[in-house]
Amino acid sequence: HKSEDPIGDAEKEVRDWAKQKTTEINQLKAQEKFRKEFLSNISHEFKTPLFAIQGYIETLQDGMLEENPTMAVNFLNKASRNLDRLSYLIHDLDEIAKLESGEVIIKKEKFDLNPLIKETIDDLDYKAKENNITLNYNTKGNYPIFVRADRKKIQQVLINFIDNSIKYGKKGGETHIKVLPLIDQVLIEITDNGHGIEEKNLSRVFERFFRADKSRSREVGGSGLGLAIVKHIIEAHQQNVHVRSTEGIGTTFSFTLEKA
Ligand code: ADP
Repeated sequence: HKSEDPIGDAEKEVRDWAKQKTTEINQLKAQEKFRKEFLSNISHEFKTPLFAIQGYIETLQDGMLEENPTMAVNFLNKASRNLDRLSYLIHDLDEIAKLESGEVIIKKEKFDLNPLIKETIDDLDYKAKENNITLNYNTKGNYPIFVRADRKKIQQVLINFIDNSIKYGKKGGETHIKVLPLIDQVLIEITDNGHGIEEKNLSRVFERFFRADKSRSREVGGSGLGLAIVKHIIEAHQQNVHVRSTEGIGTTFSFTLEKA
């Protein structure tokens, strides 16, 4: 087919080329912005506990050790908690870097979800008790729930969700863990009756370093990476993760797994 308007065609070609270049430049700019924000978030997250540790140590060096041993022990405990935070942060950063570079291989196997949930609840029960929160797992009967997934990674997902329900739950609150069979999948729901998440923040909680309530989140610890890790793991399984929440009532996180 011969064009009737070669000049018009050439113009269109140039316009398309320019459009494509603009898109590429904008993508690069967005990546650069993202990278800068990521680095600035990381350094901020490291600075907070580091400065705290520095402060506690300086106070101890300035004579508190002799003057007020009780307070000194208290400061040592606080320094130690901040060290814990740093090590969680490094662990989570490592995890997310591996997940994002595709270095993590999902090793799917058939396993029973039932004992995994029970084990995870057992592991977190001490923390729940400390926060006066009850962990409930309702299984109608005790039949096995076979799924095909990476058991270790799914345990990490369960830990992150249940741990959050404890951190952001209210004192005397309850967390309910439910498994609902679908056709080819199972749906796992973790519901708390904590303070909830504002509507406008709901779509952002899976972003790295996003915290809906900065002061509260800092206070309860954590890296701000837990849900970003969860999302990566579930998506690497080609499954879905979802959150719904009502402020003052509570939050439900849910995800699906492939039935085996
Ligand atoms: P963090 O280390 O801050 O807990 P996460 O990635 O696990 O990081 O969670 C991101 C943010 O989502 C939290 O800082 C908190 O604001 C909010 N969030 C997560 N889980 C809950 C929950 N169960 N109830 C209320 N807010 C939650």
